[in-house]
Amino acid sequence: MTKQQSLTEFDVIGQFFSGIGFTSSAATAADSVIELGMGDDCALLSLAAGQQLALSIDTLVAGRHFPHHAPADELAWRALAVSVSDLAAMGAKPLAFTLALTLPAIKLSWLQAFSNGLRAAADFYRIALIGGDTTQGPLSISLQVHGSVAAGTALNRAGAQAGDSIFVSGSLGDAAAALALLNKNTVTDAAEKYLLARYYRPQARIELGLELVSLANAAIDISDGLLADLEHIAKASGLAARVDSWKVPLSSELNAIVSPEQALHYALTGGDDYELCFTAAAEQRQSILALSDRVGVAITEIGSLLPGAGVSCLNQQGDQLDFDQLGFQHFQP
Ligand code: ADP
Ligand code: MG
Repeated sequence: MTKQQSLTEFDVIGQFFSGIGFTSSAATAADSVIELGMGDDCALLSLAAGQQLALSIDTLVAGRHFPHHAPADELAWRALAVSVSDLAAMGAKPLAFTLALTLPAIKLSWLQAFSNGLRAAADFYRIALIGGDTTQGPLSISLQVHGSVAAGTALNRAGAQAGDSIFVSGSLGDAAAALALLNKNTVTDAAEKYLLARYYRPQARIELGLELVSLANAAIDISDGLLADLEHIAKASGLAARVDSWKVPLSSELNAIVSPEQALHYALTGGDDYELCFTAAAEQRQSILALSDRVGVAITEIGSLLPGAGVSCLNQQGDQLDFDQLGFQHFQP
């Protein structure tokens, strides 16, 4: 590696990546625990009786998923939050994560900022860094999260039932609007700042996911766009999804900077919001609204599941809206 000063790979790991994250000092028999953290060939985890391990990995590549000049602390937060969001979507509790970091060079200021952001996010989501890999190459961040969930209770995409209502958490389209702001040098407008924070600091809905285990039939986190992600639920469950577009929750900040049509387009097809989309029987509506108050996250009912296939989106007059692209495609033809 091109080294600033003469740090070895092991110095970097020791200086910037050790001791990151929450480890419970008062674990009970009901808790899964980290027996051995980073520093050996493998980390060791013990799952509590009756728990399953939920795991998921995501990669963020510079120039593809974020601009090269993105602030390292924000990037670290985002990398962890988007992976933890997958745990939320399954109703799993965060336990530990590993990090494969590819760096063009050892740049201390970048590493310090990245480490600070990662530490803050790991404390926030109560998850510990237990190992990883550090290599040289074009900037890329792969992060794998491990969570625990009571055996057989994880929320998945295939459990939706005909007649279920479709709900989403928070507001949609904010992160897609932020993409257009990422290359701005200075952002002073309050609405623009809010949207950028929604992009860099997505809030994985962990608490909501944990509670939904007993209320929802299916769930997914919105990474590629509402319609595209909802299609995964519809397909896996063998059903059709209908979205009432005027019910889709939009933030006042989004409405302040773009037209109503653009806001709706971002909300339906833009990715990166990491809110949860879930389905539940209509009888659960009251419990779900009560849950919204309890966890302090807005929950909005936006449509329903019906026999059939595909995702349709209606306006208030009952006309079907047409979108050429349902969401973000990672591989362009
Ligand atoms: P090995 O050669 O056995 O795969 P490494 O030399 O790659 O081990 O890493 C040494 C130790 O440091 C391991 O415990 C590994 O998990 C940890 N590690 C390496 N890079 C990172 C990183 N970016 N973040 C956290 N832990 C790391
Ligand atoms: Mg080894």
